[in-house]
Amino acid sequence: MLKGIKASDGIAIGVAKWIKEVEIEIIEMSFISVEDEKSRYLKAKEQGIIRLEKLKAETAEKVGSYEAEVFEAHKQLLMDTVMEKEIFQYLEKGHTTEFGYETVINKYIKMFEQMDNAYMRERALDLKDIKMNQIRILNNVEDNSPSLSEDMILVTYDLTPSETVKINKAHTLGFITEIGGETSHSAIIARTMGIPAIVGVGKTLEHIKDGDELILDGLKGEIHINPDKDLKASYQEILKTLSDEKASLESYKNQASVTLDGQVIEIACNIASVEDMPYVLESSADGIGLFRSEFLYMNRDHYPSEEEQFEAYKAVLEQMAPKPVTIRTMDVGGDKAVPYMQLEEEMNPFLGFRAIRICLEDQDMFRTQLRALLRASKYGRLRIMFPMIASLEELLEAKAILEAVSAEVPNASYELGIMIEIPAAAMIADLLAEHVDFFSIGTNDLIQYTTAVDRMNAKVSKLYSPYHPAFIRLLDRIISAGNAAGIEVGMCGNVAGKPDFIPLLLNMGLKEFSMSPDMVLKARKIVNHHQLNKEQVKEIYQLKNIEEVKAFLNI
Ligand code: PEP
Ligand code: MG
Repeated sequence: MLKGIKASDGIAIGVAKWIKEVEIEIIEMSFISVEDEKSRYLKAKEQGIIRLEKLKAETAEKVGSYEAEVFEAHKQLLMDTVMEKEIFQYLEKGHTTEFGYETVINKYIKMFEQMDNAYMRERALDLKDIKMNQIRILNNVEDNSPSLSEDMILVTYDLTPSETVKINKAHTLGFITEIGGETSHSAIIARTMGIPAIVGVGKTLEHIKDGDELILDGLKGEIHINPDKDLKASYQEILKTLSDEKASLESYKNQASVTLDGQVIEIACNIASVEDMPYVLESSADGIGLFRSEFLYMNRDHYPSEEEQFEAYKAVLEQMAPKPVTIRTMDVGGDKAVPYMQLEEEMNPFLGFRAIRICLEDQDMFRTQLRALLRASKYGRLRIMFPMIASLEELLEAKAILEAVSAEVPNASYELGIMIEIPAAAMIADLLAEHVDFFSIGTNDLIQYTTAVDRMNAKVSKLYSPYHPAFIRLLDRIISAGNAAGIEVGMCGNVAGKPDFIPLLLNMGLKEFSMSPDMVLKARKIVNHHQLNKEQVKEIYQLKNIEEVKAFLNI
């Protein structure tokens, strides 16, 4: 049995197919002239941009807009002028374009591979993808797409993002890679496409031979090679249960989300752009609990205009109406970089200039977004949400700006809420509740700030746990404060979509759960079978550590 990193849930039973990296046979190009090489370079760059634009559109349609952004990022890298200058230096010294790409990009790959941060290390693969594709274009070699004609489990060193989207989903039961981590783009894409995957297995992957029978257990991160009859039978049983479960969930489509004791709950979705809407509508979610508006600001070279933002907000509100849409004001900073904003590099970006902190300083930008939101408000039910609120002063300042802008927009209507994702806000939730209509708990950040564990740092990822008693107590505190003040409390961090957590959150009094569209029906099923049990919340205060909490929640 081999172990790896769980990249995408699910179980696959099938035959292994190794995809070895295809060496591109480069026709030995000899250098003719600097001008000739520069024109080859420029032509390949242009073709590369067109290829990436096509791939982006294809991915947006087949997978989702968030996943498609990786190709926009590749395009930006391909157009990077610093890299271009370095490649030109080689051409001017009498080298070919292939040599230029190889040398310059390899230098950056090495740099990324040596970084401490796992997320940055995984970006080396993106650079490799760009390099290989440019060399292919220069030599008229077709894309390396791992095509399978029979149902198989793909085994490979790693899949680049462009290879992952080109996978033939009909025949790929799952994939296993030697390198990579949970945040590599291939893992993100696999999750959205619903293909079970395990990454980062390491050198032991060589134990798998072409044609071996495999069980890929994406739930545990385990791979069984040539399993015995009994093990295979037990996995076939699990596989059947999973597929029956999926089919039975269909009956929850377009149903109300109500607990057995009659409490109406909202099961909502998180989105990054208008292109995610088909998945939301298909899921029959009760609303949008988080529209991460910062994606409108990312992967481009200038601020989105008021008009551009208005169109995006209007489209989402119209499509969801009369269901509510929570749009979070820009949350740039932390791991989300926007080069044209020219934010200074920081030692601790998650503790730095981020989200509402930027908006309160750059108020013109903030007002533009608020105006776009308020103008769009007449097309549906708008809830505006401020991220990263840490103090009452911040909330009141942001709220005053919103009210001033609102006074200039005829017929604007909205509810106002804040994300509770900083422990300071959790501790003064009662004070903040007096000034807003709702709270939404951002567990992704709340866990990292409560336990002092960087959510992007693989070295400490074992310490990043939603089962820490401190975090559980904070949740109860926030929900109780909101309920006591008579405002709605929801949650839009990853924990909201964790089936094991939902009953506890319902018992605590959480009213809205926002998650990825594929989780909606499962969550609704849990809600519709839930009977309120307030005692559970009292009992959880007795638990002393992560292990005890996990055992209590049957995890
Ligand atoms: C969160 O912090 O839980 C959240 C939903 O916001 P983001 O992941 O965008 O920081
Ligand atoms: Mg957050």
